Amino acid sequence: MPLAIRAGRLIDGTGAAPVPHALILVEDDRFTVVAREEEGAIPAGFDVVDASAHTVIPGMIDAHVHIRGSGDPGDRGFGESDSIPTLTLKCLRNAVRSLEAGFTTLRDAACAHYADIAVRDAIHRGELVGPRLWCCGLGITSTSGHMDREKGLAPHLHVDGLNNVADGPVEARRVVRQNLRFDVDFIKINATLTEHVRRYQGYCAPEMTADPMAAIFEEAHWHGRRVTAHCYGGPGATWAIEGGIDGIEHGFYLTDEQLAAMAERGTVLCPTLSVVGRFREMGQAALPPGQPHLEAWRKKAIAAAWDMVGRAKQQGVKIIAGTDAAMPYVRHGTTAYELEMLVEAGLTPMEAIVACTGGAAEAIDFQDVGAVKTGRFADLVFVDADPLADIRVLNQPEHIRAVIKGGKFIKGDPAASATAAPARKTA
Ligand SMILES: [Zn+2]
Repeated sequence: MPLAIRAGRLIDGTGAAPVPHALILVEDDRFTVVAREEEGAIPAGFDVVDASAHTVIPGMIDAHVHIRGSGDPGDRGFGESDSIPTLTLKCLRNAVRSLEAGFTTLRDAACAHYADIAVRDAIHRGELVGPRLWCCGLGITSTSGHMDREKGLAPHLHVDGLNNVADGPVEARRVVRQNLRFDVDFIKINATLTEHVRRYQGYCAPEMTADPMAAIFEEAHWHGRRVTAHCYGGPGATWAIEGGIDGIEHGFYLTDEQLAAMAERGTVLCPTLSVVGRFREMGQAALPPGQPHLEAWRKKAIAAAWDMVGRAKQQGVKIIAGTDAAMPYVRHGTTAYELEMLVEAGLTPMEAIVACTGGAAEAIDFQDVGAVKTGRFADLVFVDADPLADIRVLNQPEHIRAVIKGGKFIKGDPAASATAAPARKTA
């Protein structure tokens, strides 16, 4: 049944001023009319949904998650200890947690065994209920790099499966093409080595040289895919930005010069402040035990991250919201926390909402989502409080009164529950 939604107030995800009393028509899984209520008529045969007491926003986008890990303490989602079927089921469960919290689209920033692709496609075919996934398959790494799965293993041991290690341009092209074989939506690389940042208190060792990066950017762009990098700063960041990368993840130690180059080139920043937010909140409990050097890194990251985002905003860098859900205490289902962190760093609440809706959709090149506009997927969240007055309400489940994906209620269906906030009748 097509839907006619009466919204008390519409924030459309583009950054435009909120529209009071909006009428949103949904047919099949897309928006077909978005208008002021006095300018639109409700056609016969539409189910009328009364959201006149609510602020309606687009389904949110978390632009950096790992669905393989829950973020729950003790979840070993990042080891290779899970079987592939177990891993795949965990991916679906975690993705659904984010969906129910209002995140109708997730960009997964590296998975294992192409489980992300299997879950994405099953959801897309309608066989499973879950969010829209924007996937990169295997993150491309170097021998001993951030995503080298054999790092730390005894030398005689070997992890089976398709290989994501590339130490030069030829191997880099091979891994991009292998990812393309599975129809990835974008390419993720590792430009700097996390371990050196941790151990040497902020020195950002490059992981990948400029040559393989250039090969990856060329190969990906030939095939219409954007590239983003796990990258904290240092020369690896400079090579990535100057080489023409599309996005930088984390970026805590980016300099003003690097940020200026990003602003000029349109390189997107996804700062994943949630990780450091939970570091600050949870203290040493957020770190794995027995590695005292990590404590210095935790403090340094806290000192740098919000400041970097503030400087990025001043320089005019495009900032999007991604959480790195799966990291310690960054749990699927609580990820609108990132918006609080972005506002703390200096974004306005409206800028934070755009960073997780229309701005993110444009930045990741998934143009069918992120805004309440005719032709886009009908993904919506009904909020019974004002996120422009207090952004934290988006991370409070009691205020998320309904979630709609592709015109179907995921949460708060008024037809299913008399206590749900919206009311529904047929025109
Ligand atoms: Zn990540």
